[in-house]
Amino acid sequence: MSTVPPMRADLGLGEGYHSPQVEAAVRLNTNESPLPPPAAWRAAVEEELRRVPWHRYPDRGAWALRKAIAAFHGVAPEQVWCANGSNEVLQTLLLAYGGPGRRVAVWEPTYALHRHIAELTGTAVAEGRRGDGLALDLAEVRRVIDAAQPTVTFLCSPNNPTGEAVGRDVVEEVLQRAPGLVVVDEAYGQFAPWSSAELLDERSGLVVTRTYSKTWSLAGLRLGYCLAPTAVVAALERASLPYHLDAFTQIAGRLALEYVDDMERRVALVKEERGRVAAGLADLPVDVWRSDANFVLFRPQRAPGDDVWRGLLDRSVLVRNCSSWEHLADCLRVTIGTREENDAFLAALREVLA
Ligand code: PMP
Repeated sequence: MSTVPPMRADLGLGEGYHSPQVEAAVRLNTNESPLPPPAAWRAAVEEELRRVPWHRYPDRGAWALRKAIAAFHGVAPEQVWCANGSNEVLQTLLLAYGGPGRRVAVWEPTYALHRHIAELTGTAVAEGRRGDGLALDLAEVRRVIDAAQPTVTFLCSPNNPTGEAVGRDVVEEVLQRAPGLVVVDEAYGQFAPWSSAELLDERSGLVVTRTYSKTWSLAGLRLGYCLAPTAVVAALERASLPYHLDAFTQIAGRLALEYVDDMERRVALVKEERGRVAAGLADLPVDVWRSDANFVLFRPQRAPGDDVWRGLLDRSVLVRNCSSWEHLADCLRVTIGTREENDAFLAALREVLA
């Protein structure tokens, strides 16, 4: 008789990766944009959706979307690959280039999905530590790459959850040293002072991943992409399922690129607010990390992180509780919201810490 077999033993995922979706008036826990996309974009999408032949499969290559993204970045459409969120891009990269007998390199603490997807795809993880102050330490980066000879080296810039962007000198050195792909996860790239996309080169293994979830205010859409050498894009096409990107996502993502000015205005606003939140935190008994992203990591100096997280939630302010994560004891991460949301967060934190 049929039974439910145990799950694959090598997954070791525990509960998997997720941020609790708790009800709160002020939600600053998942690094989304605090502002919706422009109304004109919504109207343009609605208009174009009227003409979709829904009984047909979508364009398998998503070419119109890829051409628009390519034009935005000044690369060839054959150097662009799109998927359902940048998480799916990362997963497909490891389906194509990871697997048993291969290794990825990560420096903790970093975005948990890099490790999680490695485990899902049966890829070994070579782990390094970030240095003092949680910045990337070049000596440790060299040590891990030299020892592990990873097929995929992950850099996260700006790094989630610590916030700082990786320096150009570091990316350049890693590109020289790492034997395989170097995947720079730029989910927060537009908040940072520079982008590794400038270094894209058909002769190197550099892959830059981006998402619509943050700067484009479209986390609900599920669209991400990478810029990569054409050979990598061809491999991703082979490793993904046919028609994985539906017609709606292709249209909505292409039309979003017609509203670059709106996006840049939202990014500028978040950066300005980030400065205000950082200044507000500097006046409180917390350690604060410099951020090039749309969130700030901080650690209360005199109270357990768990208690502070709970105290904020009691005041209907939800932030990310990182206090039980390795290397991040008592740390919390707050997403930059609207001016009103940030004020509510700072006021609630002041109360909790008083
Ligand atoms: N990379 C990083 C560093 C992230 O923080 C996130 C979102 N949490 C993602 C990738 C995934 O974004 P999405 O799948 O929504 O594109």
